[in-house]
This record gives sequence, C-alpha cells and structure tokens, in this order.
Amino acid sequence: MASSDKQWRIDFAKRLKGFRLQFQAYKPRGENSDHDHCAACWAKFAEFEGSDILHEGYATCDDYPRGARYEWVCQTCFDDLKDEMQWSTAAK
Ligand SMILES: [Zn+2]
Repeated sequence: MASSDKQWRIDFAKRLKGFRLQFQAYKPRGENSDHDHCAACWAKFAEFEGSDILHEGYATCDDYPRGARYEWVCQTCFDDLKDEMQWSTAAK
C-alpha cells in the first residue's frame, strides 16, 4: 500500500495506540463469531480457508481493557504503522 493510505488505517486503529500486541495464530474469541477483522485495514481473520483470509496476526494482550485477542492487526498493518501507533510486541 502507498504511504498515503496510512492515515485512514491509523484512524481506524487509534484505540490500539500504545498497546502491546502478540503475534499468534488466529483463534475466534467467542461462540458468536468465527472471524475478526484487522483493526486498521479490515482484512479478515478466520480459521476457515478462503480467499484473502488471514490465519495469523497480532492480537491484543491481557493488558488491553477489552481483553486478550479482542483486537487483531494484520502483519502488513503492524509493519506499516508500528512507529506511529507505538506498538510493541509481547514476549510469548
Ligand atoms: Zn491490516
């Protein structure tokens, strides 16, 4: 993506600014949902196979107010936005 596409992703993901994220295989967080979206670009995470389905990404940790694995960020957005968003990765 071009850098001019960054700002709208930063706006989408601004609630995650400064939080720790942990890279891991995607797992749905509840019974009512089988997928999630990247908090920044809306890419889809799921366990099932499909076009444009992501199977791993960066998830919030226990210190996120809404809980671990509540929010997900894809690899591309993490790499592109981590400086602006002050993201750090949590040790496993
Ligand atoms: Zn993304």
